[in-house]
Amino acid sequence: MLEVRDLEAGYGDAQALFGISLSVNAGELVTLVGANGAGKTTTLRAIAGICRPAHGSLLFEGKPLNAVPAHHRAALGIALVPEGRELWPQLTVLENLELGAFERGARSRRTQSLEKVFELFPVLKERAKQLAGSMSGGEQQMVAIGRALMSRPRLLMMDEPSLGLAPVMVTHMFAIIRRLHAEGLTILLVEQNLSRALEIADRGYVIETGKVSLTGTAEELLTNPAVRTAYLGI
Ligand code: ATP
Repeated sequence: MLEVRDLEAGYGDAQALFGISLSVNAGELVTLVGANGAGKTTTLRAIAGICRPAHGSLLFEGKPLNAVPAHHRAALGIALVPEGRELWPQLTVLENLELGAFERGARSRRTQSLEKVFELFPVLKERAKQLAGSMSGGEQQMVAIGRALMSRPRLLMMDEPSLGLAPVMVTHMFAIIRRLHAEGLTILLVEQNLSRALEIADRGYVIETGKVSLTGTAEELLTNPAVRTAYLGI
């Protein structure tokens, strides 16, 4: 579904990615793991079209993405739940969700999508009229995921969805991701919580200083001695 080849990108003169190659097959849950600043967020931003690659190619369902602007990528079925959520705090939960369905195709299926989001996160239905900025961190993360789902994505990218959440909410978040995957959604997940990410993922890529240092099935990575030492402290 997604093919990233030799991706190089950065910020001004500061190069962050030095030739990342990865793929995500339809229906897979793939996780990108690695230390702070390794380049995981930049990789997702380049796929979403927010950050322009200096080199390399991106293919989505066989079509080249490089020249496609970010909003068209959303229409093609690529959604990003950004790090830090980036909600509109002064708008209600419902308004935030509806803004996810701005593309024509998604707009026509808005009612149906909203029902699905409310079924997944019943608390958002109860709090639909509440300002998003007044919700708890975990609830705001639900709004951010819900907003992405409103665009009817075929590839859902999530950047650190468990970051800063209370432990019970982290468990809830991973259960939601597992459920979305079980329902057939293709997911690319960036997580610091490597052991939990690999528990639910099919495959993973370890990113170090802007390069893929290791890749394998979740099982292979979880049992890899280098991964266990560097990232699990075992
Ligand atoms: P984190 O978990 O901390 O978000 P990450 O693996 O997602 O880490 P990136 O955020 O992609 O890493 O950062 C990769 C490199 O790019 C780092 O060296 C970082 O300092 C740099 N970088 C990220 N965002 C910017 C920016 N807006 N301007 C300049 N440099 C940036």
